[in-house]
Amino acid sequence: MDYQVEIEGGARFVAAPSEDSVLRAALRAGIAFPHECSVGGCGACRYELIEGEVEDLWPDAPGLSERDRRRGKRLACQTRLLGAAKLRVRCDDAYLPAVPPTRITCVLSDRRMLTHDMAALTFESSQPVSFLPGQYALLELPAVRGLRAYSMSNVADGSRTLQFIVRRTRGGAGSGLLVDKLALGSGIMIDGPYGHAYLREAVERPLVCVAGGSGLAPMLSIATRAASLGKTADFFFGGRSVDDLCAQPLLAMLPGFATRLRLHEVISGADASGWTGATGWVHEAVERSVSNDPRAYEYYFAGPPAMIEALQELLMLRLQVPFEQIHFDRFV
Ligand SMILES: Cc1cc2nc3c(=O)[nH]c(=O)nc-3n(C[C@H](O)[C@H](O)[C@H](O)COP(=O)(O)OP(=O)(O)OC[C@H]3O[C@@H](n4cnc5c(N)ncnc54)[C@H](O)[C@@H]3O)c2cc1C
Repeated sequence: MDYQVEIEGGARFVAAPSEDSVLRAALRAGIAFPHECSVGGCGACRYELIEGEVEDLWPDAPGLSERDRRRGKRLACQTRLLGAAKLRVRCDDAYLPAVPPTRITCVLSDRRMLTHDMAALTFESSQPVSFLPGQYALLELPAVRGLRAYSMSNVADGSRTLQFIVRRTRGGAGSGLLVDKLALGSGIMIDGPYGHAYLREAVERPLVCVAGGSGLAPMLSIATRAASLGKTADFFFGGRSVDDLCAQPLLAMLPGFATRLRLHEVISGADASGWTGATGWVHEAVERSVSNDPRAYEYYFAGPPAMIEALQELLMLRLQVPFEQIHFDRFV
């Protein structure tokens, strides 16, 4: 029997009993449930359970502080409905799914290394895929606890292909499997799309795309679509050493490369031997580039939390760029 779910003072929805988290069940039902990372790291989907019962999928998830736990808060992305429920959460139309998320079976058809620790993976889905440039999906990986978020690096062009760029993290269960072990031909479940840092096609401002490490994936998707629309973009890619740089051959294939689409690669680590390009933090290169008129651009960025915080501080606080011109994903 389906579960009736009520948001206090607001929407109601019906959820079929499933492995779905509260968050995914709500988004599938078209509810504007607040969220960001969907994997327990950010805390944006906190809610209170007023009536009913839920299962806690990851009791120690870092998205909840001790104070949150004492106050009875839960994470919608890490709880599962066990029956009818009433929830307290402030929904906001900004969180309405741009494309309704669905679960599809996909088969790994290709993998190639881009650098010493980043691989490009191609999956073929059982049905045509639909997502906006910059969005991400949740991957269910064999013998890996919990879901992993990875951003699509291609664009949805009516085909069944989903491409990802995954960076192997130290001791990482999901990334280690994807980069080194998952055999070609293996089938996995992919759920998506999710995320709000997608390309705003109707906005005419030139783009600034900033990628740190594997943040390259969503920025490549955005740049690909922007290039096909004839938009102008400055694309910043930050790595620790020359060995991390891999954006050039991927972007060089796009129309307008080096004229409308300009690549700026920046190395932050001490080992810059033989490198004649920019060094330092990638947000410093962005600042040098936009300082004449920072409000003239639409900003997209993805990567590690430290890079995201530096860019937020630069754009929102110091350069006073309006919030609606800034779109980002934090890879927690
Ligand atoms: C929106 C978003 C987009 C991302 N896009 C990319 C991308 O395009 N490319 C890329 O390389 N990385 C991306 N990441 C990071 C990626 O999701 C992983 O965090 C990273 O690959 C490390 O995962 P791991 O399994 O290797 O490491 P691990 O250390 O094994 O796992 C860390 C991740 O697993 C989750 N997790 C850990 N334990 C549990 C548990 N018990 N239950 C449930 N969940 C658990 C955590 O939320 C954390 O995200 C993205 C992250 C986010 C939030």
